[in-house]
Amino acid sequence: MRGCTACPLYANRKQTVFGVGDERADWLFVGEGPGAEEDARGEPFVGQAGKLLDNMLAAIGIKRGNDVYIANVVKCRPPGNRVPEASEAARCEPFLTRQIALIQPKMIIALGKTAASNLLGTEASVGSLRGRLHDFHGTALLVTYHPAYLLRNLPDKAKAWEDLCLARDTMQRLKSAQAAPK
Ligand code: SF4
Repeated sequence: MRGCTACPLYANRKQTVFGVGDERADWLFVGEGPGAEEDARGEPFVGQAGKLLDNMLAAIGIKRGNDVYIANVVKCRPPGNRVPEASEAARCEPFLTRQIALIQPKMIIALGKTAASNLLGTEASVGSLRGRLHDFHGTALLVTYHPAYLLRNLPDKAKAWEDLCLARDTMQRLKSAQAAPK
């Protein structure tokens, strides 16, 4: 993927940002695309939004690198941190699809509209998709707000907290069902 030139985003990147974390994780968090700091460091969700994501992970009892993998819809930084074009996301989709296939998470958390749109194939708003479980080819998927959005819209943090509680409870249920004698 490092040499990928499949979409125009390759032209402005310092490096591709593939993802980070436990490759056998039960949790997969998917964001939009790398920002300036991520582009420089080669890791998704660093900086203020990354700190908030780490706090969100802590709220459900997990931490970066341990049973969680973090990735983005596009692996190269969109100029000026704009939203990736649909054609760019479509070009990059095979990488995320492969990541999901290899990690085999029990649950995917789509952070923000770009992740939700691309994973669920809908243009519906985060507000209308959050708060309930979706299905991604047999894997539970939950939509919540992107940490960068939450930094600008503090009142919605309470809704994100509700989503994380639902995610945590669902994960417990999934693990119990797996552990139950057949
Ligand atoms: Fe390739 Fe994805 Fe980067 Fe586009 S964003 S150049 S498809 S790795």
